[in-house]
Amino acid sequence: MTGPPLTLVDLAAMPVSKLERVGPRKLESMEQVGIRSLLDLLTWYPRRYLDRSRESTIAELAAGEEALVLARVVSVESRRVRNHRVMVTAEFRDRSGRLRCTFFNQPWRKQQLETLIGDVEIAVFGRLELFQGRRQMTNPVIDPVGDRTGRIIPVYPQSEKARLTTWNLAEWTGQTLRRCAPRGIADPLPDEIRRRLGLIGRELAFTDIHQPADLHDVHAARNRLVFDELLRLQLALVRRKRELESSSLGIEHAVGPRSDEASVPGLVDRFIGALPYPLTGAQRRAGDEIAADLARPLPMHRLLQGDVGAGKTVVAVEAMLGAVQGGHQAALMAPTEVLAEQHAQGIRSMLAGLTIDDDGSLLGSRPVEVALLTGRTPAAERRRILAGLADGSIPFAIGTHALIEDAVRFASLGVVVIDEQHRFGVEQRAALRDVGSGDAVPDVLVMTATPIPRTAAMTVFGDLDLTVLDELPPGRTPITTEWLVGDEGEAAAWEAVRAEVADGRRAYVVCPLIEESAKLEASSAEEVHDRLRAGPLAGLEVGLLHGRMKADDKQDVMDRFRAGSVQVLVATTVIEVGVDVPEATVMVVLDADRFGIAQLHQLRGRVGRGSAASRCILLTSGPSGPDGSARLEALVRTRDGFELAEIDLDLRGEGTVMGDRQKGRSDLRLASLRRDREWVEAARSVALELVDATGVVTVPELAAELTLLDAEDEAFLTKS
Ligand code: ADP
Ligand code: MG
Repeated sequence: MTGPPLTLVDLAAMPVSKLERVGPRKLESMEQVGIRSLLDLLTWYPRRYLDRSRESTIAELAAGEEALVLARVVSVESRRVRNHRVMVTAEFRDRSGRLRCTFFNQPWRKQQLETLIGDVEIAVFGRLELFQGRRQMTNPVIDPVGDRTGRIIPVYPQSEKARLTTWNLAEWTGQTLRRCAPRGIADPLPDEIRRRLGLIGRELAFTDIHQPADLHDVHAARNRLVFDELLRLQLALVRRKRELESSSLGIEHAVGPRSDEASVPGLVDRFIGALPYPLTGAQRRAGDEIAADLARPLPMHRLLQGDVGAGKTVVAVEAMLGAVQGGHQAALMAPTEVLAEQHAQGIRSMLAGLTIDDDGSLLGSRPVEVALLTGRTPAAERRRILAGLADGSIPFAIGTHALIEDAVRFASLGVVVIDEQHRFGVEQRAALRDVGSGDAVPDVLVMTATPIPRTAAMTVFGDLDLTVLDELPPGRTPITTEWLVGDEGEAAAWEAVRAEVADGRRAYVVCPLIEESAKLEASSAEEVHDRLRAGPLAGLEVGLLHGRMKADDKQDVMDRFRAGSVQVLVATTVIEVGVDVPEATVMVVLDADRFGIAQLHQLRGRVGRGSAASRCILLTSGPSGPDGSARLEALVRTRDGFELAEIDLDLRGEGTVMGDRQKGRSDLRLASLRRDREWVEAARSVALELVDATGVVTVPELAAELTLLDAEDEAFLTKS
């Protein structure tokens, strides 16, 4: 009884050198794998568990079946076989009989097993083969477990190199738990929340993850520890979000009717009223959420996620007009010139006929001017636009990152929309917020058409609020997706292209993805273009679009494709994002198994945008590997981007979904964004509850734990 219950911060301050039976060599071993404190040790979780009640003896094993036996090594030998390969053979024994295990190409096994000869119990997991009456396994999984007793044996990640065994680790964690027992381990989670979520206490969780009486205990322990990891992360993200919000001054936009006479509808209402279609339920909900943000004095920082074709543009324009109707300006930033130009065209026609009050003009009103600013804007026009943005006479700007160049100043930038967020760096996002004038920070809406599973979004974009457009406008044209293989498949694809073109429609041919080399990708696109023009698509107007072409040439081929003088567009993934040509009704993707699910889904979104039924043909030269097949089958099966995103997360694990942003995320030792989706949600909502409006974590003990996040994680968090 030497003090209050131990906190994680206390445990992090206690070095493992204080433990008994830890000599300098073992200390160094632990140092090598990053175990320095008792907290490191307690969070060095077992990789799996052996249930002794379910193990068999060697004699009981049936041929052809996978099973686990506990046995001891009797002898080991190694010899070279063909092609300089090494074969290690070890003889195992338990009380019932003998088992021979053969390891190919694992020369280090000899030394490993030799040091284990004798009394060390080893878990051997593999498929039993009978060879001339002898029991044997090839390349089984080997886990030395020592002379551990008890029904459930935890198996720790061990290190051959550092000479750390699972029984070392079990002994030390056992010692740590015993030493903690008199003071106990503190539980900072408010009881009420713990009960609501059905979680066990923290001390019991640590005990049961390391020394479970049965496997059900492990499950409950894991839940609690997973929740703790996720809660720490969410607390840090929500804290950062709230700090940002409370430290900067936003603009309270006048989102209600602008006119003094309530009978004259505001700009936003007039815009919506003039649309040729009613908003979808999801668009209305999104609009309301955004309007509520705009009206508040805090700057908005919101992510609008919506599948391809969900109608994000209307929602974005609505948000931007919310700023304009209150006398502020709005900007939309797109990742490419093609997209910026297309947005400008589309939005200009949406806004045609809409006017804003202007006391200076003869009629008392003027049209809403939409300026387009890209790298291609001629100098004189650019000067005019810059002046108009600076004096506020131009309310609406669309552009590429040319919008955030030094020379650009806005009189009063109120709302910024960033389209296709994944193409933008965080720094660019920050820069755009800074182009406003005065102290007020514009409201920021980030749009992405890459559906991300909700839980992943909560983690990757944890400092943003999330709006999901989960409903598509009615009457979308069907897209049939087929996966065709080999020469025959290809022939069918070109036939489909010819048929569509003969009916006056257009086709995309997407060239194989060559990662890391835009140059190779471009030359492969040129090759495909030449080959198709000379052979399968001879006689059709075939154009070429890739990332290394000059901007003017890109624009030119896009214009001609839109107009129909180019009938088939051979392109790299530059067409992935946002390109909108309603007459394009067929897409052929070459070597489709080289693409990821999200990318294929984006690509496919380029067709099915008009009134005619569309086809997407995924080609592979031969059968694909299991992952490739699973991806292509998923695309054939569904068009729902969120369903595909979930499948993607399942197939690839979170690392890839998170991309670079995930890399530093070492604090998640136990939690998986894939397996633990419901805990991510729970942690998010508890974090929102426990952080106040100014960014203070209201439970001091939990706040203190945030200092334990890895430095890397900290850097990651503050970067966003
Ligand atoms: P996204 O950017 O989300 O991929 P867009 O905003 O480009 O989608 O919209 C796709 C198409 O759907 C556009 O042609 C747009 O005019 C149309 N659209 C948007 N909202 C609706 C709606 N509520 N009803 C019918 N069509 C809609
Ligand atoms: Mg779009």
